Order: sequence, then C-alpha cells, then structure tokens
Amino acid sequence: MDKNQAKIEIAALNETLTQWAHSYYVKDMPSVEDSEYDKVYHQLVELESAFPELVTSDSITQRIGGEILKGFNKVEHAIPMMSLNNAFNKGDLLEFDKRIKKLTSIPIEYMVELKIDGLAINLRYEDGLFVQGATRGDGTIGEDITKNLKTVQSIPLKLSEPLTIDVRGECYMPKKSFIQLNESREASGENIFANPRNAAAGSLRQLDSKITAKRNLSTFIYTIADTDNFAANTQSDSLNVLDELGLKTNTERKLCDSIEEVWEYIETFLDKRTELDYEIDGIVIKVNDFSAQQEIGFTVKAPRWAIAYKFPAEEAETIIRDIEWTV
Ligand code: NAD
Repeated sequence: MDKNQAKIEIAALNETLTQWAHSYYVKDMPSVEDSEYDKVYHQLVELESAFPELVTSDSITQRIGGEILKGFNKVEHAIPMMSLNNAFNKGDLLEFDKRIKKLTSIPIEYMVELKIDGLAINLRYEDGLFVQGATRGDGTIGEDITKNLKTVQSIPLKLSEPLTIDVRGECYMPKKSFIQLNESREASGENIFANPRNAAAGSLRQLDSKITAKRNLSTFIYTIADTDNFAANTQSDSLNVLDELGLKTNTERKLCDSIEEVWEYIETFLDKRTELDYEIDGIVIKVNDFSAQQEIGFTVKAPRWAIAYKFPAEEAETIIRDIEWTV
C-alpha cells in the first residue's frame, strides 16, 4: 500500500472506530462485538506503525475512552486513568516479556489479575472518608458520580485508616443481576442492555441515584493511583493493603515468576471464566515491583509495564450461552 492509500485507509478506520466508540462509551449501546472492534483497531495500529508519519494526535489510537455526559460535573484526575495494551495470543505475551526485560534489569515477577468487564472508577478518600467518585472519562477528565457510587454496597464510606488516597477499580454488574434487569426491562417494553458491562455503565451514569441504587452493582478495587506515599512496594502487597483498608479486591489473582506461569494461569481461565458470577474479558498482567514499573514507564495511552490478554471471540459466545442456561 502506498502512502496516499494508507492515509485514506487510516482516516476511514478512524471514522468507523470513532462511531463504534461513541455508541459504546457514550450511549452504552455497542454496535459491534468487542472482538470486531479489537480486530479493526488492530488493523489501524498496524497501518499506523507502518506509516508513523500519518499518525494524527486525534487518532483513536492516541485517545482514551469516551466523552463526558451532559448533566454531570467534571472531575480532573490528578494522575491520568489510562487504558491497557492488548495481547491476543501467547506470542504477544512472549514479546511483551522480552520488551519488559530490555527496559529494566530488575528481576521480574508478574502479578496476574482478572480483567473485570465493567466501568473504571476512581474513588477519593480524604482522612479515610469517601469524598468523591468519578468515571475514567477521557482519562484526564471524568464524570462526578459520587452520589451514585455511595449507593454501591461494596464501597466503604470510611476506610479502616484515616488515609488520603485515590484508589481505582472496576464497577460491574453481576451476571445474575444483569439477566434480571433485562428481563424486567423487556417486560416493561424498555430497551435491553447488550451485556453486563454496558448495563453497569448505564446504571452508574444515571442522574437519579435512586435508579443506580436498585441496580445491584459491585466493585473490585485493583490499584492505588499514587504509590509514592503508600505502604507497599509491589502490586501484590498493595492489593493486600487495599484489602486491609476495607476495599473489596478480587481474590482470584496470582504472583507468577515467569511468563510461562502466566500463560498456564490464563489457560485455566479459558474454561473457568464461565463459572464466575461476573464477566471478565481477559487477564491483566502487571510487573509486580513498583520501582521496575517506574523504570519501564508509559506510552501516551497505557503503561508499558502491563498488558491485557483478551479472550478469543468464541469464548464470548460460550459465556452468553452459559448465562442463558443458568437463568
Ligand atoms: P480495556 O477495557 O481493554 O482495558 C483497560 C481497562 O481495563 C481499564 O481502564 C480498567 O477499567 C479495566 N480493568 C479491568 N480489570 C482490571 C485490572 N485487574 N487491572 C487493571 N485494569 C483493569 O481498554 P479501554 O480503553 O477501556 O477499552 C477498549 C476496549 O473496549 C476495546 O478493546 C474493546 O474491547 C472495547 N470497546 C468496544 C467497542 C464496541 O463497539 N464493541 C467500542 C469501544 C471499545
């Protein structure tokens, strides 16, 4: 492909992806499967890496998430809420492992966590009290959804210690609640949600928090925004500290010595994921040591020290079938 053709193709891919992203992030109503979105996104990434001079600052590959809904106050994140780079097979993970080891000489362990398919949230605690909750938004500016998050039972209004911190995690809708919600919406002639992720996002971004309160949402907290003044030097220790503070973390996690061990963990979840009562769309692999993370750094959109392995598309269909069988 020559440069002119590439320019036209890049613009077309960007336009398609931007429309899909708008339906997904703003309307909470995806127009295509995630696997289709990921495939087209990957085509754009490949083309942009073949013609780096054609990458524009407004390309979807340079941006995070969606737009801010009208009706919500804006919250500026002191530390940006980023996305994650993706891996789709074992080869991608081996490449990731190689890259990491070139970027640091610190011995590497990987903390491996489930990739919860919900909406990213930031919770701010001041002197141990929950004062503000926000969506990721475009990564820099999110929506203030404090009132709505106060209705989510798993979010403590007070931590066990009087700390001032920002913690981050995923707010999700359990599979059972999703099925019940869609059944009742169908019965009353309302549009049904395409999946638990969109149902969670739609429920959290309600102007009336009484509606959110009825939606049976839950959370898993997986990170602390600013690790500098926090009593942990690794991701695995920080999850333990978050637990002790009274925040709900996901206990399905593993510290791995090698990328081979990471792969074994991923393989167990290809089957096991259907048994979970919440949806996951992959497995997140993070360099465990914070000083190694700092050395490895970030791209404009995502940390270089982490990657999300995305489950293959057929698995998504299996999950939908399993939900139907368990109703
Ligand atoms: P992402 O969802 O692939 O990954 C980043 C997010 O993972 C983080 O923001 C965080 O919220 C979440 N996460 C869950 N568990 C985590 C954990 N344990 N540790 C750290 N993070 C965790 O990236 P994204 O930028 O939010 O969205 C892109 C993805 O959204 C695409 O790959 C696609 O699958 C989907 N999408 C689909 C459509 C569509 O039309 N179907 C449109 C846009 C985006």
